[in-house]
Amino acid sequence: MTSRADDNQESTDRSQSGDRVLRTITDDDNFRVIVATTTQLTRHVSSLQEATGETGRHFADLLTGTVLIRETMSPAHRLQSVLKAGEDQGSLVADAHPDGLTRGLIQTPADAGPFSTRQGVMLQVMRSMAKGEIHRSMVRPAAGCDVSQALMTYLQESEQIVSVIAVGADWQGDEVIHSGGYVVQLLPGAGHGPLMVMTERLEAFPPIGSLLSQLEGSATRLLDELLFQMPHAQLDDSPIHSGCTCSEEAVVASLATLGREEIAEMVREQEVIELTCDYCRTTYAVQRAQLLGLLETS
Ligand SMILES: [Zn+2]
Repeated sequence: MTSRADDNQESTDRSQSGDRVLRTITDDDNFRVIVATTTQLTRHVSSLQEATGETGRHFADLLTGTVLIRETMSPAHRLQSVLKAGEDQGSLVADAHPDGLTRGLIQTPADAGPFSTRQGVMLQVMRSMAKGEIHRSMVRPAAGCDVSQALMTYLQESEQIVSVIAVGADWQGDEVIHSGGYVVQLLPGAGHGPLMVMTERLEAFPPIGSLLSQLEGSATRLLDELLFQMPHAQLDDSPIHSGCTCSEEAVVASLATLGREEIAEMVREQEVIELTCDYCRTTYAVQRAQLLGLLETS
């Protein structure tokens, strides 16, 4: 008996460590609450993309926010967000998949400073739908906004449900100590009273980074804080991880955007061409013959 109890305890602990998303609904059907912890994810993806300073902060928040928006709007499908800074000052990309795999990309012009929202910003969200079609929406949040505010603008304009979203991290220099966030949605039919109580509660919260630090980055503790003894049912608990969907074929196919001349030049100069995935930085050694094939089909 004792050993079985120990085993259960151990498996519970294991399932509760690491990055995850929890989805719950309150028993009174007033609120849906989704929390995510993304510490390992943001650390790993930020190091792959060599993200630092202000760029790194926006990037980590966009990764967390994209996981949360996917879980909120389309848990069974892929969702990508692109945050574009004004005047071609670069963009941040986050790509979240239904199995929890999430990746990201920083694209900034060589001469640009850190990614900033001060010159205006555009947020594009692409959702893969059931039949392979892609639903795109674009919003222009206020200049100088943070990622939480940008995502909030998106939810307000595209969902008919009152939602509050907060994403953030607890930083030590350029290192993420804890990162995560939450979405609270007021469900149709919920009364004014519960909304007032929840609004006051959220307004009294410290910034999400400090809150995560106090809660030691725990998703369950964050959920307890948000629900504060409201009876609720947990709908889902899924792991989140850093990963990539690239393959040699995909990397070769991405060359199709280059001109014939450029490809021809690569083929003339080298027998084996090294191509690197922009997301995960995996390098593929592609044979000359494969690139010649691409030249013939393009
Ligand atoms: Zn890759």
